[in-house]
Amino acid sequence: MPAIASLTRYGAGAGDASLADLSDNTNRWGTPPAAREAIVSAATASYRYPTLYGETLATAVAAYAGVSVSSVVTGCGSDNVIDAAMKAFVGPGRRVAYCAPTFVMVPTFIQWAGATAVTVPFLPDGDIDADALLATDADLIYLCAPNNPTGVAPSPAAVARVLDGARGVVLVDEAYFEFSNVTVADRVATHERLLVARTFSKAFGLAGLRVGYGLAHPTLVGALERARGPYTMNAIGEAAAVAALSHDLPWVHARVNDAIAAREQLTAVLRDTGHQPYPSAANFVLVPVADAGAFAATMRTAGLLVRPFRALPGIGDAVRITVGPPDVMTRLITAIRSLA
Ligand code: PMP
Repeated sequence: MPAIASLTRYGAGAGDASLADLSDNTNRWGTPPAAREAIVSAATASYRYPTLYGETLATAVAAYAGVSVSSVVTGCGSDNVIDAAMKAFVGPGRRVAYCAPTFVMVPTFIQWAGATAVTVPFLPDGDIDADALLATDADLIYLCAPNNPTGVAPSPAAVARVLDGARGVVLVDEAYFEFSNVTVADRVATHERLLVARTFSKAFGLAGLRVGYGLAHPTLVGALERARGPYTMNAIGEAAAVAALSHDLPWVHARVNDAIAAREQLTAVLRDTGHQPYPSAANFVLVPVADAGAFAATMRTAGLLVRPFRALPGIGDAVRITVGPPDVMTRLITAIRSLA
């Protein structure tokens, strides 16, 4: 298929265990304790298939997110949920609109579905341009809240405007919800074309197990499950995510607070050293730099892996840095100060 042949392989991370990896916005504090125990217990039943559509996790997620069980779809990471949405709701000849730059996989999901991407610039203050998004008349509008890679949270008023005015499906990607504590999940019960995508890869510290979910009207959930297919989420991941929701919420909330404090510390140091970082509502900070490759190379010599972006639309070169515990922050801040 020509659309697939033109895609490049995803190139994140360097896989070098000697480096502190601050490149992928995962939980640098580790895996929550009850989830770790559940992983070990679930291992003995690995000869069995998992639940068909993640029914056990859906029940736990419904309680956590305050929606009915029929409004939950699970998946192999939220990537799987977003991909299923593109397959279920758009296809060849259909258009997907989003503000750029955003989550790097979004154009790929659109291409996999054979649909067309329509990009809109962010407003000068960093907010989404609700009017421009609506003016595209797209079949699906993707909003990332907070946005990756900028970390900026769209204003609730602009998100509401898109939700109220969109003709098609609105996919609100809340991968970093636990850090922003702002959600539109409360609208899932009444908005028939809203899909909220979330993940266990970030605040919940389970990126290696690939667990994500979506919150949507039961009609959308049915379509998403048909597009996703059975058994895509593995049993160990489901057991770990259920344990995390049942027993690890205090741990998760404490680590979220640690991450927010580290983010504010990093933002202040960057400002203090003459940079203009974006105001982040997530567990990472994007900072525009003259040469992203050179900045990342300097960090690498200090044993730190950060994510360089070259020529981001409306931004230029920038580096995205995930925050972590005090030992990592000390190394990071020393390396940044040595550049100034
Ligand atoms: N959405 C956003 C905005 C992300 O940053 C990521 C991970 N980088 C994902 C979705 C995918 O997360 P996962 O598939 O690990 O759940």
